[in-house]
Amino acid sequence: LTSGVEQLGDMIAQASSIVPFTGAGISTESGIPDFRSPGGLWSRNQPIPFDEFVARQDARDEAWRRRFAMEHTFAKAKPGRGHRALASLYRVGKVPAVITQNIDNLHQMSGFAEPDVVELHGNTTYARCIGCGKRHELDWVREWFHRTGHAPHCTACDEPVKTATVSFGQSMPPQAMRRATELAQHCDLFIAIGSSLVVWPAAGFPMLAKECGAKLVIINNEPTEQDEIADLVIRHDIGETLGPFVGN
Ligand code: NAD
Repeated sequence: LTSGVEQLGDMIAQASSIVPFTGAGISTESGIPDFRSPGGLWSRNQPIPFDEFVARQDARDEAWRRRFAMEHTFAKAKPGRGHRALASLYRVGKVPAVITQNIDNLHQMSGFAEPDVVELHGNTTYARCIGCGKRHELDWVREWFHRTGHAPHCTACDEPVKTATVSFGQSMPPQAMRRATELAQHCDLFIAIGSSLVVWPAAGFPMLAKECGAKLVIINNEPTEQDEIADLVIRHDIGETLGPFVGN
């Protein structure tokens, strides 16, 4: 680990534009289970695809039941050492923005300005109407859900309301995809952190950065799909690896 952290420190010192790309692994220290961890909600439940959410009331009810079962986990989560290290590099101007697959809002909480968190898969800490796009707060959804036992409908257009996340089968947010593409193309160091790099199209960004000339670092405690194209692989705990960069 020491030599990995030293090498990473040198690469960070030499880089002028560093783009971090984060997955669920950066948030496990904050108490949010990743996709694969045994017993985690995600591993026990098959995800509900977008077309089912649209088509069936029982699927929408189940989606909101699952969200509120996780409520405590999301509500009490605080940024971990990984989030804080990236926020430190952002504050000193080394990191222009973070690209994330996470939906937990922890990069914003760690100090990134809202527009500099490029959320590829949306955000679960608020909701949107799938018809008109109107934003709804979770307090309002919770009240509706507990009063009626059902998923809510939009007050503006009566279409179903869903967490502001991107479900399987739902289209990717175009603005986030554009910004992530530009960031990957123009950085000189790209660091993939806590992602198994299997969910596409998100998993294309490390490769794109590499093709455009950036150095690629992968930090993950198990092998990923793209280890062989990386310049440095640190197969270790994220909090321990990035802890030394907090507060720089
Ligand atoms: P993933 O679960 O497929 O991969 C996470 C990786 O992180 C795994 O390889 C795991 O071994 C590693 N990891 C976990 N804790 C670690 C630690 N402390 N140190 C080092 N490595 C660690 O996650 P993914 O690639 O992000 O894809 C999962 C999808 O599910 C994403 O699209 C995301 O939207 C969603 N998701 C989000 C959250 C969140 O917002 N926190 C949580 C679970 C799933």
